[in-house]
Amino acid sequence: MPNQLAFKDRLELTIALANNQHNKVAVLDLDLDNFKLLNNSLGFHAGDELLKKIATELKTCISDTGTLCRVGSDEFLIALPNCVDEQTITTFVCTILKSVSQPIQLAKQTLSLSCSIGISVFPDDGNNYNDLINRASEARRLAKKNGGNGYYYFTEQLNKNSLEFLCLSHQLRDAVVKNQFVLHYQPQLDLVSGRIIGAEALIRWQHPTEGLLYPAKFIDIAEQTGLITEIGIWALKEACQQAVTWQKSGIEPITVSVNVSALQLRRGNMVSVVQTILNETGLEPRFLELELTESILIENIEQTVLQLNQLKALGIKLSIDDFGTGYSNLAYLHKFNIDKLKIDQSFVRNIDTPANQAIVLAIVQIGHALGYRVIAEGVETEAMKTHLLTSQCDEAQGYLFAKPIPSPLFYEFLLAR
Ligand SMILES: [Mg+2]
Repeated sequence: MPNQLAFKDRLELTIALANNQHNKVAVLDLDLDNFKLLNNSLGFHAGDELLKKIATELKTCISDTGTLCRVGSDEFLIALPNCVDEQTITTFVCTILKSVSQPIQLAKQTLSLSCSIGISVFPDDGNNYNDLINRASEARRLAKKNGGNGYYYFTEQLNKNSLEFLCLSHQLRDAVVKNQFVLHYQPQLDLVSGRIIGAEALIRWQHPTEGLLYPAKFIDIAEQTGLITEIGIWALKEACQQAVTWQKSGIEPITVSVNVSALQLRRGNMVSVVQTILNETGLEPRFLELELTESILIENIEQTVLQLNQLKALGIKLSIDDFGTGYSNLAYLHKFNIDKLKIDQSFVRNIDTPANQAIVLAIVQIGHALGYRVIAEGVETEAMKTHLLTSQCDEAQGYLFAKPIPSPLFYEFLLAR
């Protein structure tokens, strides 16, 4: 099998020929799904055998017409000359997917594999080696992201998305340095008394040209680039500082809730970060609540239990956010030293249906049975509020009371109550 350098030579030659004959050339980037897992469980020797078998299959598929090369442990490149149209390419790609998924006998076991394929086409997606390879990989990443065992063609949209990602991650780095973030606060009320008991701090990015951006636009990028750690620390400190400022102005103390991503927890030093911020800002721990996502309920359970206990030992409160939509591992829920469940707004929004009423009631009852308080998010109408009161939900947050608002407005809101 040629190496990548030889593959490059051949592809360039194929492109030159196709250019003269006005033909298309397809470039395929193929990657086996879960190969590392197999390699680890079967051993490297068996892994190598498996790769040889796959390579033989691929060679048979492309016969003499195309060029095949192996670029990484389980990544292959294929160049297919003389492609008349997309249909020819798709038919060929389906043949590959099918032959890779044939059961393979190895080490007295029968294995079935699958692969993800990204496709770029000369001259539509590029006219040189680098562009065609990069675009095929971009498409392959999408195939992988969407569960594998499939193929994707490169599209301009894909190109736009990856450029946008690069651009935003660069700007986000800049935003951290230039401190372009701001927190908005949404009140949390005791449903029975109507008293404001807390505020959820929600981050916004004051983008220099695009205006105020919501977390949905940048938190993923912050997590993928690792910037979430710095941004998270900033948000935590800012919220604690704000809570102290409100208290000093003489209004009745309320709890501030700050969202913490699973990644921040996994990085490990959350306990000392929180401790330091509490010391620096002088906020009493009981007025700080961390909102954790449900995904922490399935990752490193033992370590998470330990970490949550340490956080609780600082005297702060913990809640599980968007409860009921992620991985509600009920087997572990009672092991977590938390204070509150936040019912996801999707259940609240549709609480006029019997199914959602049942779900909300069940969450409230589980929460109460385990000694937790329960808060509903996304409460927008009096009818929703009535349903929640009937279900004995303790607290609520939503547009019915107030949208997330900048701190000066929130202060006025507190004064007006
Ligand atoms: Mg939240």
